[in-house]
Amino acid sequence: MTPLNTFTNSRPALPTCPISRVKPSPPEPGPGPWTHAPYCVVTSRTSDKKLCVFTDANYNHGKGLSIVAKREVAESFVSEGLLPGSSSPSPTHPEPKYEVIPKPNQGLGLFVKPSPSYLPGETILLDHPTLIFPSSDSTKAISLETLSNLRRKALLQLPPQTRSLTRSLAQSIHSGKKRVVDEITDIIQTNAFTQQKAGATHDLIFPLAARINHACTPNAFTRTNISSLAMEVIALTEILPGEEIVHSYLDPSLPLSFRERQQRFHAGWNFRCRCTLCTAPKENIAASDAQRKKIAELREQLEDDETKGDAAAILKIAQRLLELYEAEGMVMPQAEANALAAYGCKYLAESGNEQQWKKAGRKYAKEAARLYGIMFGEESQEVEEMVMLGKDLS
Ligand SMILES: [Zn+2]
Repeated sequence: MTPLNTFTNSRPALPTCPISRVKPSPPEPGPGPWTHAPYCVVTSRTSDKKLCVFTDANYNHGKGLSIVAKREVAESFVSEGLLPGSSSPSPTHPEPKYEVIPKPNQGLGLFVKPSPSYLPGETILLDHPTLIFPSSDSTKAISLETLSNLRRKALLQLPPQTRSLTRSLAQSIHSGKKRVVDEITDIIQTNAFTQQKAGATHDLIFPLAARINHACTPNAFTRTNISSLAMEVIALTEILPGEEIVHSYLDPSLPLSFRERQQRFHAGWNFRCRCTLCTAPKENIAASDAQRKKIAELREQLEDDETKGDAAAILKIAQRLLELYEAEGMVMPQAEANALAAYGCKYLAESGNEQQWKKAGRKYAKEAARLYGIMFGEESQEVEEMVMLGKDLS
């Protein structure tokens, strides 16, 4: 149920290998848009594997980008056209309808200005990364000291303004008294988004998108831009002036209970969620948990072989799921439930009451197309499939 091409916040696991003393190799010049000589270190005692810091201080119109990667991965970023030359024209951005302002006891947040609301599917912002690191899974064999050294170098090579913007991001591990990990590692673990690019998985820091707080019933979501490194933040519902823009740090289609969510927030970001759903009265939280449990049960029923061949049963489950998703403020999974209901109607139309089922099916297909359009774009395959289904039902 995870929508394709969306970002997820990640907390990479800390490397557990013993500290080794590694001497940096001499600077290695190389092709590419890099404004600094690549800084490389051998990361293994038994081979000549190297990780390097590549910096393009001109990226994104002088905001800069540092990448920690193997040489071949960095070269793929260039050959795949993900790092446009510094001469590319500056895009004209309309005046944003949001502002970054302090939130009581919770740092900063993005809020809608007293201007027209954001409509569902509207792009709120397009953010570019300032730092890219190999994902934690791929660096388990590398010492913490080596990784910290590379991360620090990557940060220091950014232009001063971008460096201080990146350093001002939230840290969740540092508790005030004792520093468990270094500053840049804490910033990565608290704010990184995971993304697949150039044949590898990376942790990326987007300094503006990282300001967007979490809510269990989000009004926005993030989406990768396939042909660049940019991240799009899109309105999922209408977002009114004065409202905070929030997205879910967890997969928004998972029907997790209150306790399961808090456990994940604690393990991943060391915070307790204080969104509307999580601060509701106890009885409301219990009712929500019961509805989410029912959602999980119904989804399991859909997987039963007996259900799979029964259009009436599928339609009934899809309709019940839609009621529950609506009650729980779970917008994204409503797309799939509507699509399922539309298919249920299509098969029922073949066995009698044709016009009645076709009419109901068209309504579900239309709603599925609307939601898929918000999530994946109007040109997406998902929208096309629902439009075709709607035509079949006319
Ligand atoms: Zn919450």
